[in-house]
Amino acid sequence: MFIFDLELVNFRNYVRAHIRLDRGLNLFIGDNAQGKSNLLEAIYLLSTLRSSRASQDSDLVRRDILESDFPVARLACQVERAAGNLALELAIVGRTVDPAHRAGKRVRVNGVLRKASEAVGQLCAVLFTTLDIDIVAGPPLMRRRYLDMMISQVDRGYLRAMQKYARVVQQRNSLLKRIQAREAQAHELAFWDQELAHAGGTIYWARADALGHLAIQAEQQMERLSDGLESLTLIYRPSIGGLDQYDAPIDDAEWTGRMLKALQAARQKEIAAGATLVGPHRDDVEILIDGMPADAFASRAQQRTAALALRLAEASYLRRALGDDPVVLLDDVLSELDARRRRALLEYIDTFQQTLVTTADPDRLRDIYTRASGRFVVNAG
Ligand code: ATP
Ligand code: MG
Repeated sequence: MFIFDLELVNFRNYVRAHIRLDRGLNLFIGDNAQGKSNLLEAIYLLSTLRSSRASQDSDLVRRDILESDFPVARLACQVERAAGNLALELAIVGRTVDPAHRAGKRVRVNGVLRKASEAVGQLCAVLFTTLDIDIVAGPPLMRRRYLDMMISQVDRGYLRAMQKYARVVQQRNSLLKRIQAREAQAHELAFWDQELAHAGGTIYWARADALGHLAIQAEQQMERLSDGLESLTLIYRPSIGGLDQYDAPIDDAEWTGRMLKALQAARQKEIAAGATLVGPHRDDVEILIDGMPADAFASRAQQRTAALALRLAEASYLRRALGDDPVVLLDDVLSELDARRRRALLEYIDTFQQTLVTTADPDRLRDIYTRASGRFVVNAG
C-alpha cells in the first residue's frame, strides 16, 4: 500500500499541511525541531491510533489552540491498497472545559465512524526510530510492546484479547490487594485464575506464532546487515517458564494447566505484592547476538544493527500477514548508519511500495537524494 494524500491540521507544530506523496522514496529534509518526526508520528498514529512517543492526546494538539473552545487536531490520509482504496480521518480532541466536548480520538474509515479496534491497521506502517535500540537494550516492556503493536496491526482479535486480558489483570490485582488487606479470601482467586489463563492463552499463541516468522526473518536481516559476521537469535520467554520455541507445541488444556500451576506457585508472592506476577504481561523475548544476551554483552553498534534487523523483520511479517506492503517510515535512522549498512537496508526497503525518510543532514544522504521520487523541505511545520 502507499499513501498518496496526507493532511495535518492543528497537529503538534503544524497549523495546516496538505501533502501529495508518491510511491517510492519520499525524502523530508529540515533543520532540527521543524516537524519531521511529527509528520511521521502523524502517519504512525493513523495506522495504530497510538502515539509513537509516550504522549497523551492533549500533547498532540497544537499548543496555541489548546486553550481555545475547540482544541482539535485533525489528520487525514488517502491510501491505495491491495484490499481497496482507503480514506482515513482521525480527530484528536484535547481537554476542554466544556463537558460537551469529550476528549479523545474519533476515527472515520471511508467516511464511517468506527471503533478504534476496527480502525487500527487499516493503514499499515512500520516506523524506524533512533529509540528502537531500546527494544534490544531496554526492559522487557519494550519487547512486549514491539510484538503487541506489530500483531495488533494485522489481527483485530489480538487487540480485543489484549484489552480483555488487561481488564482481567486489573480486576485480579484489586482482588489480590483486598486479600492482602484481609477483606477477601484467597479461594476467590480461583475464578480469576481461570480467566487469566484463558485470556492469556490467546495472547501467548499469537505471540509465539508471530515469533516463529520473526525469528527467521530477524536472523536473515542481521546476516545481511552485518555481511554475515553477526547472528541474531530470538527466543520467547514466558513468565510461567518451561516453554520456549524448542518445546513441542502444547494444546489449550496443557497451557491452562501450566498457567494455573505457575499461579499456584506464585500465590504468596502475589498476595504480598498485590499484583499478578505471571502471565503474558510479564513475558519477555530473549535477544542473543552471537549467542550472548544482547543487552548485557553486545556493543552499541551491534545493538543498533539488531534493532534495525528487528524492524525489517517486522516489515516482512506485516507484508506476509497483509498480503500487501506496509508503508515504511525511517525517522533519522539513516544518518547514523555506515555506508554499507545503509546500502543493505535500502536494498531491502526498495522492495516496498513506499518509504518516507527524514533527515537533518541531506549532504550525508546524497545517494538517497538523487533517487528520491519526492523531496520536501520541512520548515516550522
Ligand atoms: P529533529 O531533527 O531534532 O529530530 P524534528 O524536525 O523531527 O527535529 P519534531 O520532533 O517533529 O522535530 O518537533 C518539531 C517541533 O514541534 C518541536 O519544536 C516541538 O516543540 C514542537 N511541538 C511538539 N508538540 C507540539 C504541540 N502540541 N504544539 C506545538 N508544537 C509542538
Ligand atoms: Mg526528529
